[in-house]
Amino acid sequence: MPSPLGHALAGLAVGVLAAGPRALVRALDPPAARRPIDTALLALLPFAALGALPDIDLLFGVHSMYTHSVGAVLIVLAVARVVTGGWRWALAAALAYASHILLDWLGHDTTAPIGVMALWPFTPGFYQSDLHLFLPISRRYWVQGFLAHNLTAVAREVLVIGPLAFFAYWRLTHVAGKRM
Ligand SMILES: [Zn+2]
Repeated sequence: MPSPLGHALAGLAVGVLAAGPRALVRALDPPAARRPIDTALLALLPFAALGALPDIDLLFGVHSMYTHSVGAVLIVLAVARVVTGGWRWALAAALAYASHILLDWLGHDTTAPIGVMALWPFTPGFYQSDLHLFLPISRRYWVQGFLAHNLTAVAREVLVIGPLAFFAYWRLTHVAGKRM
């Protein structure tokens, strides 16, 4: 399963592109004094956080279960609708969160239970694709090769997701720059 960095990159790319860079910059209404790069960071940080959020379940010993499900995505959608007052932001937030589940499903899980409980509460099964697009991140720091393995895994994530994340960032700074 991907690292927090890979998840954050996917979350910000999906969230920013779903919400629309123009609408995001307009909603933030950047003052002329603010640099475009700061406006871009303000817009993409919440989506990056949402992309990494499901792994908070590691703290509670129920990894890859309830927070990695369509049920959790619907909860994020409802909460974001209430907090932001608009369906556009709510949908973008829910998609940024859902990108985490997709990435984990595409990844390679080596710790039981294998896969993610993606369709909870409808069915409690665990799912994982056969693609193994992302390498598993090791948390066994005492094992030899731990660092090299994880660096390889993160490099692959940046190669696959980085271009889309960079495109979202570039669009934000471009749009924000034109408003100055
Ligand atoms: Zn996860």
